[in-house]
Amino acid sequence: MEQKRVLITGAAGFLGSHLCDRFIKEGCSVIGMDNLITGDMDNIQHLFKLPNFEFYNHDVTKFIHIPGQLDHILHFASPASPIDYLKIPIQTLKVGALGTHNCLGLAKAKNARILVASTSEVYGDPLVHPQTEEYWGNVNPVGPRGVYDEAKRYMESITMAYHTFHNVDTRITRIFNTYGPRMRLNDGRALPAFIGQVLRGEDLTVYGDGSQTRSFCYVDDLIEGIYRLLMSDYNLPVNIGNPDEISLLQFTEEILELSGHTSKISFKPLPVDDPKQRRPDITKAKQLLGWEPKISRKEGLKITFDYFKSLPPDEWHKQPKEFISNKAD
Ligand code: NAD
Ligand code: UDP
Repeated sequence: MEQKRVLITGAAGFLGSHLCDRFIKEGCSVIGMDNLITGDMDNIQHLFKLPNFEFYNHDVTKFIHIPGQLDHILHFASPASPIDYLKIPIQTLKVGALGTHNCLGLAKAKNARILVASTSEVYGDPLVHPQTEEYWGNVNPVGPRGVYDEAKRYMESITMAYHTFHNVDTRITRIFNTYGPRMRLNDGRALPAFIGQVLRGEDLTVYGDGSQTRSFCYVDDLIEGIYRLLMSDYNLPVNIGNPDEISLLQFTEEILELSGHTSKISFKPLPVDDPKQRRPDITKAKQLLGWEPKISRKEGLKITFDYFKSLPPDEWHKQPKEFISNKAD
């Protein structure tokens, strides 16, 4: 069988690096692309020795040139943590809009299949629960999270337009909160924030009263779902996530129990437009892809906690990323 050549944007990030591993394991030739704005080369360092891995340090909002054949594109480049996208709002809008446009143009030129990483944030602060793909969402376009949510909604629209107008072979996944090794401990998302606080012996910062819910999916389950969606022939959006819903307060209790630590909870103001509830309806993924998550939160949390604990302690104390920006960004 001919070796498939796959481009993964956002390759040095949390999900992108796990996708690189998966496509290498499938025997593909993988091109990772990243401008390292929120990613880290350490996530893909182990791949550089392989003959079937190449890396391009490139900003996907600029024209993308890839010589030779390309079979698949997985467009995962984008800040994903609220504190990241609040600090770089214009780059977030640009990577969702211009970056997606460039990836679609490349897919069209190469006759490649493209899968784009959308998000449960397209549902905003949802008024329908659990969220089915048919729900159009409740997004505040001019609120702080709008830069991410609307970029992803535009991403979905332009992807469908390339599919219907140019016949590009497209897939759209709506990813719900995913966690696991290679997240940045200081990226501000709930799970790494809480684990970092436990490891440093600090109070756990719960925003609001902690009654808001999320449904956390372990990374290996997510990658399997993405792989199956790419291999399917379904063009409309598909939710991929774990429907096991939990309040943030209960989540901190699980982390404290797992770690054996006795840190206190410190309540902080709820960020603007923070969704009150979130749980994927995964009927479509089950029916179309035969997929459902296999790894319980208990198992996934243990693997993730052990991973962060095994990092050198100076990693636990790293400050959040500061971003260099200019007027165009
Ligand atoms: P991440 O921040 O770890 O990775 C994103 C990667 O994209 C980083 O390596 C970053 O440097 C790169 N990047 C950003 N802008 C770029 C640009 N202009 N050009 C090239 N590279 C660029 O985040 P993640 O959690 O791995 O998320 C990956 C994708 O999955 C994102 O598109 C995100 O919206 C989506 N997603 C993730 C989750 C989740 O729970 N992790 C949930 C929903 C959607
Ligand atoms: N959160 C929290 N404490 C933190 C970080 C996050 O209570 O230190 C809350 C946040 O307000 C949200 C939930 O945890 O309700 C999940 O936040 P995250 O940033 O992980 O992702 P989101 O699902 O909001 O995109």
